[in-house]
Amino acid sequence: MVLTYVEYDDGGVDDVSLEALTLARDVADAEGESLEAIAFGADAEGVAAELGAHGVASLTTVDHGDLDGYAPEGYARAIVQYAEESGAGTVIAPGTDRGAETLSHVAAKLDETMAAEVTDVDVGDAYEITRQRWGGTLIEHAELHADTNLLTVAANELSAADTGGDPAAVSTFTPDLQPSDLRVKLDRVEESDAEGIPLAEARVVVSGGRGTDGDFSEIDALAERVPNAAVGSSRAAVNEGWRPHDDQIGQTGNKIAPELYVPCGISGAVQHMVGCKGAENILAINTDPEAAIMQKADYAIVADLHETAPAIAEELEAR
Ligand code: FAD
Repeated sequence: MVLTYVEYDDGGVDDVSLEALTLARDVADAEGESLEAIAFGADAEGVAAELGAHGVASLTTVDHGDLDGYAPEGYARAIVQYAEESGAGTVIAPGTDRGAETLSHVAAKLDETMAAEVTDVDVGDAYEITRQRWGGTLIEHAELHADTNLLTVAANELSAADTGGDPAAVSTFTPDLQPSDLRVKLDRVEESDAEGIPLAEARVVVSGGRGTDGDFSEIDALAERVPNAAVGSSRAAVNEGWRPHDDQIGQTGNKIAPELYVPCGISGAVQHMVGCKGAENILAINTDPEAAIMQKADYAIVADLHETAPAIAEELEAR
């Protein structure tokens, strides 16, 4: 059996978990095994239909008072106990902060190895895996030899495929926790005061870099004209104190996968591109035709952003 840890919120299963299920389903098919999911919290049952539509045969929910919110070692204990009880040969997690943290604790508890940022698995005597290193700037091929194969799936690399299956059958599991499983436990969450659409969910992201010279008014105005758009920035703009770190796109910032990414006054450093390589299309606005971003963009405008961004916004307004 292939077991996948999934995350969800009010809007349903999160996108990276659905992407992880795409890989998990391929592995399960290749192994001739069933695909199961495990989810935490009182509302987990609510995603059974969505999981079923993504090929999950059964969902195990864990609703334990001590794990309310999040407790990585406690989550890991529950996954280990359930995996052992159900005979899971493979455990897969989404490449989210929590997915990676939880699965690394699973590996520690099982005294197993684990492969992170996986994008493909060729199932044979061993798992031949393809995975990303350095934020996707390096692709690595490796063999994984393990009694229980533990994988996290790189975010924004695979499409989440709806297979149209029936709702997953739901059962509950109560782990036998030890005090050490609660050494780290979520205490409280402080929401970022960022307004508008989250970068990860925006259909269009308009972004500004050092080329803005600190004036983001035209970038903001352009994003406001586009439905479902958000504003991002390069690290240079964050370092200058022009934008909060929440807005940063790149290796040390957000990873985005919008339909359209519009970097304005951004040179296209590799550390920036790591964050936006999931974009379907890139429209770069830059005064320098030799800037690296121009080679990586699908469309490029060689011009001053302070003239081009308002001109595009004006055109959109007129339509
Ligand atoms: P610059 O490289 O200075 O480029 C500015 C661009 O604006 C130039 O191409 C210029 O031609 C253009 N320009 C100037 N004026 C105009 C104008 N009026 N109109 C149009 N174009 C104009 N960077 C990130 O972005 N995200 C990260 O997560 C990140 N992580 C990093 C992690 C590490 C470990 C390291 C070492 C670096 C990281 N960086 C990251 C920094 C990265 O290497 C670059 O320094 C940074 O992305 C540059 O930002 P920029 O493109 O805004 O600035």
